[in-house]
Amino acid sequence: MMRSRLSIAWVLVLSACAAEPIAPPPPPPVAIIEATPAPLPVIALSESTAKIKRNGTLSQLLRDEKIAEQDQWIASLASVIDLRKLRASDAFHLFRDETGALKKLVLDRSVWERAIVAVAAPDVVVPPLADAPVPPLRFQGALAAKLERDPTVVKTELMEIEITSSLYQALVDGDWDPAIAFDLADVFAWDLDFYSDVQRGDRVLALVDVRRREGESNAFIAYGKLHGAIYAGEVGRFSAYRYTTPSGEDTFYDENGRSLRKEFLKSPLKYAHVTSRFGSRKHPVLGYTRQHAGIDFAASVGTPVWAVGDGKVTFAGWQGGYGKFVTVRHPNGLETAYAHLSQINVRVGQHIAQKTVVGMSGNTGLSSGPHLHFGLKRGGQFINPFSLKPIRVEPLAADELPRFKEAIDGVMKRLGEALQQRT
Ligand SMILES: [Zn+2]
Repeated sequence: MMRSRLSIAWVLVLSACAAEPIAPPPPPPVAIIEATPAPLPVIALSESTAKIKRNGTLSQLLRDEKIAEQDQWIASLASVIDLRKLRASDAFHLFRDETGALKKLVLDRSVWERAIVAVAAPDVVVPPLADAPVPPLRFQGALAAKLERDPTVVKTELMEIEITSSLYQALVDGDWDPAIAFDLADVFAWDLDFYSDVQRGDRVLALVDVRRREGESNAFIAYGKLHGAIYAGEVGRFSAYRYTTPSGEDTFYDENGRSLRKEFLKSPLKYAHVTSRFGSRKHPVLGYTRQHAGIDFAASVGTPVWAVGDGKVTFAGWQGGYGKFVTVRHPNGLETAYAHLSQINVRVGQHIAQKTVVGMSGNTGLSSGPHLHFGLKRGGQFINPFSLKPIRVEPLAADELPRFKEAIDGVMKRLGEALQQRT
């Protein structure tokens, strides 16, 4: 048969390579005309799915599944993925022949990429997964592994959501990946407190690049650039347009070219996944009194607390009733304080940038429940943080405005039209 003769030729080539200094033999005389092999028999494989147990290992899984030569399967898989990154939820698809021997193992890494290890038998064509556009695999050698990725496509998409119970939940309800909530909260962090300002019925519009799997399923893979967003809420309307200055700074401005950045953030709580419901939830701000010298924000233990402005850490440690406590001195003569933390992430003397997470909120010291106590001092005197009107920083230069307006024009029109349609 043609095919067996071809495999002999390959064995010869391989042994010639092994005996080194000899010049490589000329390529075998081309018998390609007839070399198109007859279709190989497809072996019917039965599929089952197994998951690594909590705190378990891959070898345990293979042992439980009574797989022979576990070490080879593991080593082969390790040649294409980092096994330390396996999670308990990862599903392994096991393909066995009629004798029960494992022929192929597929690990889904995400909706669009998977690691495949398969047995090489000269006459085996391993069929692809039913739902994946993958050509059959032909293998030579004992086990072969590869990481396979489906084709993907990036498009700019218009996102329109209406807040129901929380920003996060509204995204989930609208079939958007909720990861964008953190980007939006980041962009609007100077104007919006995502814990207390977000109300039912508020609308969020955004133009964002989205990478999806090509083809029918169109499954979400990742967000790319956020080009612009509008938050139209009860507390006001805020817009953000991405713009790169001629000097290369890539940041967000409002429609008039004013930077969204201010010397102080609106809230000391970094937006973390919140699913609290309106009505049943307590208002995040518990109260403010003069003696109390600060604001209490209701926050579950472990909510990230970020520095509202650039500064230098002046205290980080235990301080009586304040429990785990951090103070930061800012260049404008103001000082901020963060109390009852469950964890401190900074040390005294450290220079930190705005948005640095100084710790996690908690319930330490004299605290009647999980919350963040936030204090603000001017010239050594406590003042009401709400009375502060932080100034915006870095507006665009006047002579740059025409270029800016032109750059954001398309995004502004699309978002504006979308906003108009429903108001
Ligand atoms: Zn307090």
